[in-house]
Amino acid sequence: MIYLVEHFFSIQGEGRYSGVPSIFIRFGGCNLRCPGFGSYEIAGKTVRGCDTIRAVDSGLFRERWREIASTDMLIKIVEAYMESIDYRPDVVITGGEPMIYAENPIFYGFIQRLAAEGFRVTVETNATLAPPFEAYPVYREVIFAMAVKLANSGEPERRRIVPGVIRRLAKEGKDSFFKFTVDKRSADEGAAEEIAEICDGFDNEIYCMPLGDRLETLQLHAPAVAAFCLREGYRYSDRLHVRLWNREEKR
Ligand code: SF4
Repeated sequence: MIYLVEHFFSIQGEGRYSGVPSIFIRFGGCNLRCPGFGSYEIAGKTVRGCDTIRAVDSGLFRERWREIASTDMLIKIVEAYMESIDYRPDVVITGGEPMIYAENPIFYGFIQRLAAEGFRVTVETNATLAPPFEAYPVYREVIFAMAVKLANSGEPERRRIVPGVIRRLAKEGKDSFFKFTVDKRSADEGAAEEIAEICDGFDNEIYCMPLGDRLETLQLHAPAVAAFCLREGYRYSDRLHVRLWNREEKR
């Protein structure tokens, strides 16, 4: 079964296509948890996880997850947005970790239809799961935003860094790029070495963005991450949706 958490039309807030109007399709489920990224009060419980925990925790948020029974259900969502848009926005496939569905026929059929209709499709992924490109060649037309997790995610290295997968996404996806979440502390301690090691041998673009799903947290980390980018020669990515809408979930 494949689960949809939400969809919306907004401005891409992160990475290479920051600022580009995009239709976001967010799927539920992730193979990581990233407890280092924050803690949230949910239904009277303190839960550790990332800023999209609603797309990760199937127990706490399952009532917000919708079962998708066909590719057409997904296509109809895009078509409904396109009724009021007279240009072709990007489509961003996000999660959770959408690549848990890479071989699902409903999911793959959706990617095929989007590509056939000329949409630029970006898949936001933690880069620990690669599609078998030979059997599913349309993934070669997809841009993978490879958000490889650093030690600050709180995930053990063996779970968050899978070199063979990174290699495949970087080399076989179309114009894939790296996107790392860096905080004030890791900017000074360890992130440079980690990123250099992960990206060794690749010429894909490298973006670093500050930790923070609210303005005050973003502001806390952003100057250190900007200085880090200047020092290391990486591209700074802000979180434009946080600047624009603060805690609201739209981007
Ligand atoms: S990999 Fe991404 S979606 Fe999954 S828990 Fe980590 S930050 Fe959240």
